Amino acid sequence: MSIPTVFADSEVRDVLEKAIAGDRLSFDDGVRLFATHDVAAVGWAANQVREQRHGNTTYYLKNRHINYSNVCKYDCFFCSFFRKSKDDEGAWEWTVDQVLDHVKDFKDSGLQEFHIVGGVHPDLPFSYYTDMLSALRDAHPGVTLKAFTAIEIAYFAELTGKSLTEVLSELKDAGLGMLPGGGAEVFADRVRYKVCRDKADSDRWFEVHEAAHALGIPTNCTMLYGHIETHEERVDHLQRLRDLQDKTGGMLSYIPLRFHPDNNLLGSKKLGEPSGLDVLKNVAIGRLFLDNIPHIKAYWVMLGIKPAQLALAWGANDIDGTVTWERIYQMAGAETTPEEMTEQRLREVVLEAGREPVERDAFYNVIEREPEPVAT
Ligand code: SF4
Repeated sequence: MSIPTVFADSEVRDVLEKAIAGDRLSFDDGVRLFATHDVAAVGWAANQVREQRHGNTTYYLKNRHINYSNVCKYDCFFCSFFRKSKDDEGAWEWTVDQVLDHVKDFKDSGLQEFHIVGGVHPDLPFSYYTDMLSALRDAHPGVTLKAFTAIEIAYFAELTGKSLTEVLSELKDAGLGMLPGGGAEVFADRVRYKVCRDKADSDRWFEVHEAAHALGIPTNCTMLYGHIETHEERVDHLQRLRDLQDKTGGMLSYIPLRFHPDNNLLGSKKLGEPSGLDVLKNVAIGRLFLDNIPHIKAYWVMLGIKPAQLALAWGANDIDGTVTWERIYQMAGAETTPEEMTEQRLREVVLEAGREPVERDAFYNVIEREPEPVAT
C-alpha cells in the first residue's frame, strides 16, 4: 500500500509510510503527527493500519456499568464525578445488596461484562470489594467482572498494607477478570502535579498493571487528553504504554478519553474541550503509535455517537458496549449522549458507519449467536 497522490505532499508522509509498512514510530514521529495540520492524511493511514489488522470488523459487547460509589478521598481537577463525603449533595455509596439489586434484571440476559469503578472511598474496608465481586460472580456466573482502576488498586494496597500482587490475587480469587485501565490520565509528572497530585503517580499505575499482567489479569489502558498536556507529553504517555506492552503483552485495548469540562475545576477555569479534529487525531495516532496493542476503542459514551462513528474510519475497531447507567462522563457534560443503547441500536450505529458489527466478550473472543435483528 502506497500513499495516495492526494497525500503525496504531506509533511508527515515519511511517518505515515513507516506506519503502514509496519515499522515502529519514534517519539519525534509521534510529536510530528500531533503537530501536523494534515489530519486527513493521518486518518487515512490509521484506517489502513486498522483494516490491515481487523478488516471491516467493529467489535461491541453487551455490558453494564456499576459505579458503586462516587465518594472519593482525592479531588482531581478534571473530575466531575467525585464527592468528598457521603453527606454531600449528589453523593452515593451502595451496599453490596444495593449493587446486586442494581443489576438484578440482567440475570441470564447474555451480558458479557460488568464495568465496575468508583471513587477512592476513604472508609469502606477491603472486604467490601471482595464481597461485592464474589456476590456478583455468584449471582451472574459467566459475566466478566472488569473492575477498579489502578488508582483504586493502589489504594487497596495502602489500606491493607499488602503488596499489589496480594491485593490483586485476593480480588482475582473473588472474581476479578480484568482491569479497565482508568486512572492513567497523562503520565507526565508536570501534568499530574497540576491536575491530580494526590493520587497514585504514574510509576504506581504501571506497577499495578504489570502486577496484574503477571497474574494473568489482562487490562486496558487510557489517556485523558485535551486539557493542559503538550504534544510531547501525549507521546511520552503513549510510548510508556507501548514499552509496558512490549514487556508484558497484557493490554487488550487503548481508549483515548476526551476531557469534558463541565462541573469540574479545570472546566471552571475556562478550559475548553478538545476540538473534533483533535478527538479524531487522538484515535488515529493511538492506532499508529501503539503498534503492539491490538484494539483501539471509540468509546461512544464519552465521544458521542456521531464522532464515535467517524472514529471507526480513523483507526478504531471497537465501539464498546450497550453500557447502561454510566455516571462518570454524564456528570462531566456528556448529557447529550444517551446512557445506554440496545444491542440493535449499537449494531445499527456500526452499520451506518459502513462497518461490520461483531459481538465479543470482555477478552475479544467472538460471540457466536444470533444477534437481535437490525431494522432495515
Ligand atoms: S478521577 Fe477518580 S481518583 Fe480522581 S477525584 Fe475522580 S473519582 Fe477520585
